[in-house]
Amino acid sequence: MSMGAEFDCLFCKIIQGKVPSAKVYEDEDVFAFLDINPVNPGHTLVVSKKHFINIFDVPEEELKKLIVVVKRLSRSIKEALGADGINIEMNNEKGAGQLINHIHFHIIPRFEGDGLRHWPGKEYQEGEKEEIAQKIREKLEE
Ligand code: AMP
Ligand code: ZN
Repeated sequence: MSMGAEFDCLFCKIIQGKVPSAKVYEDEDVFAFLDINPVNPGHTLVVSKKHFINIFDVPEEELKKLIVVVKRLSRSIKEALGADGINIEMNNEKGAGQLINHIHFHIIPRFEGDGLRHWPGKEYQEGEKEEIAQKIREKLEE
């Protein structure tokens, strides 16, 4: 019998209580715990209890459940830590820095002067913006 990826998944083990975590939330479908290596204290990971890999394979209904919990926790994390703001982040696939192949949102409390910078911006060539927007619209229709 072949073993599914979830049998060797760290976040599945955390959800099942086989690996310890600092839990901040749990319901029937969603689990949230503190990131072990936080950008700032209170940095939280929100995961689906079912094993999906990332944005590309999660069903829309499951994603809705996750994002509603992300919204609720954003307020409680901001207030609990006295943060000046919140970043919500998600890495999808290796090329985007996804290390753990179990879907998760990062909720990161931010503080003025905490040193974290936004990503640097590039400039488009003449006409490039319109061409790319057109390509994306075409893919949506496929
Ligand atoms: P990424 O897949 O790049 O979005 O990042 C995975 C995140 O999981 C990183 O921020 C890690 O610090 C975090 N992480 C890894 N192992 C654990 C663990 N055992 N408990 C809590 N967070 C973890
Ligand atoms: Zn998993």
